[in-house]
Amino acid sequence: KRIPFFAGNWKMNKGPSETERFVKELATAIVGDEAVFGAVKANEIEIGVFPPFVSLERAKSAIESANALISLGAQNMHWEDSGAFTGEVSGTMIKETGCQYVILGHSERRHIFGETDDMIEMKMRKAIALGIKPVLCVGETLEERDKGMTESVVEGQLKEAFKALGTPQTFEIGIVIAYEPVWAIGTGRKASDEDAQRVCAFIRSFLESNFDSHVAQAVRILYGGSVKPDNAMGLMSQQDIDGALIGGASLDVSSFIGIIKNGM
Ligand code: 13P
Repeated sequence: KRIPFFAGNWKMNKGPSETERFVKELATAIVGDEAVFGAVKANEIEIGVFPPFVSLERAKSAIESANALISLGAQNMHWEDSGAFTGEVSGTMIKETGCQYVILGHSERRHIFGETDDMIEMKMRKAIALGIKPVLCVGETLEERDKGMTESVVEGQLKEAFKALGTPQTFEIGIVIAYEPVWAIGTGRKASDEDAQRVCAFIRSFLESNFDSHVAQAVRILYGGSVKPDNAMGLMSQQDIDGALIGGASLDVSSFIGIIKNGM
């Protein structure tokens, strides 16, 4: 059984003080809602936040003091432990701040900052070696979609990311994959439930044919791109969609909670 994961990618939003306020408010909302908190405690759903690097430590302590059972992740990491890489942050560093997860290969990293499949592959290997669960993002641009290339683009990104990760055992740490069509991110234009389901099922079949059926059944596949409280239920009722990677709507406690309540 796959545990639905509601993950808030804050992107470049919320410094340490705002993070502390937000996490306290989110924790109060979670703990105060019997259905949500009951489901979190029973391990029936998972809620996670992905703040900017400088806010991770504050998020960690706010989560701990509220006892809210919120998972924590970073939005990126470097593939080396340390060295002359000005402006970068390593996996060992984010692990020390308490991250269980790291988003890798987000489309904004790929397209705005020029991250290549090779870089993402090195980050995947490093995260797994450190025991940090990657949330690997894949997805096509509008142009690629219009040319009917969605599946081939997604397959290419998966092949590259898992290039050196040949065995099903790799997945035991809990790798998560997020399908985020680039044209749906921050546009208010969510993929239809059927399209999102089709690509998530395609990702699962990729796992089955490249690894094994146990991996395919165990890996959680999230959808991301303009997820809002009013579209969460339709998405989450799809067979191969195991959660949501939420940008804009995760920045506000009531809309984040709204997505969780409608999607669980
Ligand atoms: P939005 O929810 O703002 O469309 O962002 C999605 C996203 O990129 C999450 O990683």
